Amino acid sequence: MIGFGRIGCAVLCAVLGFRCVLAGENNWPTPLEISGFSRNSTTSEISMYLRGLAAAEAGLARVELLGRSVEGRPLELLRLTGPRVVEPVPRLRVLIIGSQHGGAEPAGGEALTSLARELLTEGLRPLLKDLDLFLLSNANPDGRDLKRRANAHRVNLNTDFVLLSQPESQALKIALDRYRPDVVLDVHESAVLKRDTLAREGYVTDFDAQFDVASNPAIPSALRAYAQATFLPALLAETSRGGLTAQRYLGEITHLHQPVTNGGLTLRNFRNAAGMTGALSVLLETKLDPRIDSYPTYRNLKVRVDRQLRCLRAFLTLVAAHRAEIKAQTRVARAALQTEDLVLSAAYVKDPLRPMVRLPMRRLDTRQREVLAFPDHRRLVIGAAAPLPQRLLITAHTALLQPILARQQIRCISANSDQPVSVTALRLSPRSTDVGSPEAAAEVTTTVALPPGSLRVDLNQLNGRLAAVLLDPRAPGSLFDYPAFKALLRPGEAFFIYRVGRQAPRNVP
Ligand SMILES: [Zn+2]
Repeated sequence: MIGFGRIGCAVLCAVLGFRCVLAGENNWPTPLEISGFSRNSTTSEISMYLRGLAAAEAGLARVELLGRSVEGRPLELLRLTGPRVVEPVPRLRVLIIGSQHGGAEPAGGEALTSLARELLTEGLRPLLKDLDLFLLSNANPDGRDLKRRANAHRVNLNTDFVLLSQPESQALKIALDRYRPDVVLDVHESAVLKRDTLAREGYVTDFDAQFDVASNPAIPSALRAYAQATFLPALLAETSRGGLTAQRYLGEITHLHQPVTNGGLTLRNFRNAAGMTGALSVLLETKLDPRIDSYPTYRNLKVRVDRQLRCLRAFLTLVAAHRAEIKAQTRVARAALQTEDLVLSAAYVKDPLRPMVRLPMRRLDTRQREVLAFPDHRRLVIGAAAPLPQRLLITAHTALLQPILARQQIRCISANSDQPVSVTALRLSPRSTDVGSPEAAAEVTTTVALPPGSLRVDLNQLNGRLAAVLLDPRAPGSLFDYPAFKALLRPGEAFFIYRVGRQAPRNVP
């Protein structure tokens, strides 16, 4: 709670013209509060609770079904929208995802359940004047109820956003395309105790909250720059003001002598997949306290949920305050998705100006804080860019590719033609050991005859840029990073997906 009682709520609701049903009744204890923080809430408890809130505030809230998990549990999103008013600054659409890692990281789901109550009954309610909120508290319901990190098929959902092999990740992709959020937040918890690695060297990491922003190099450059240079520092400052130590996400630290980077660049994770829709996309990881310690509540869940809530409040306060700026950024990014050149390589490298970074760590034996130095590999080097074509022609392996394109909401149509077509082909170097790298492919202009069954993918569609990345073996995050697809590449031959035309060029700065 942030000290805003029913009277405060009633005053605010009157000012905003809302009829606040919940404020006058009981304070709607969450399932976690009812259990006395003695265990994780179950999927059905969370579902019942959110449905109850929505029924009590039918004018502002409703529950929408995005899909079902492997075992048939509902993936339910709570949609909160304040009264429509004509304003010079448009409303922002904010999607927040909790507990993708199921029972291993339950605090996000519990915190989003509390957040829903705060938005409807307490001090956060004024935010509904500026924000449309889409809250998926429980993004991995099977994982929650089975007390595991993965889903029922034992797939890590947060690395499934290229293949979209699972119903849970497919539902998240549907949410991105259906709601077109301007802002996305994916909330996780991060174990500070790495039992098999860092703990053997006697240390745990030490932070309350880490944030990162989408960083795949195919995401429009202006949006990446805004997220990293403007939004992220402001978010860390806002979170710190709430009393937490907050820093930019530093990949997993599992050894004392490893280099340090930021979050992964691949489109396999949800943060980057969301960024590819032109949304300002952010990852949150809060501290998951070690099980070896004793706490006043079950696995310190009360403190962990409070940590998440503080971060969520800071995040929402910031995006509401900067909504005009963010809206302008996402508008530009969505136009750039259709035109900007595609970056074909990116990597974290050592920074010659800043060879080491000093990080606070905690000793396992004494629990004393120590500052240790790590090689700093957080400099992101962006490689060459290629023009975005107008369309792609897939001339082989369509049975393998079409189902994935369909799950990625990428439309393709039949491309049968009797006449040879003028195309740009990628010729894969016969000498390279890594046929998927940018250096290993030369571009040649040629004509090809389209065999029966060929497919055409016009890139002037919602997920057109995503198609260009997934289907270009040179791009970080393409399908050809996976062995089953890499095996389709033939060194020394023309690549079987051809490019036609080019979008209006725009250089990457
Ligand atoms: Zn996680």
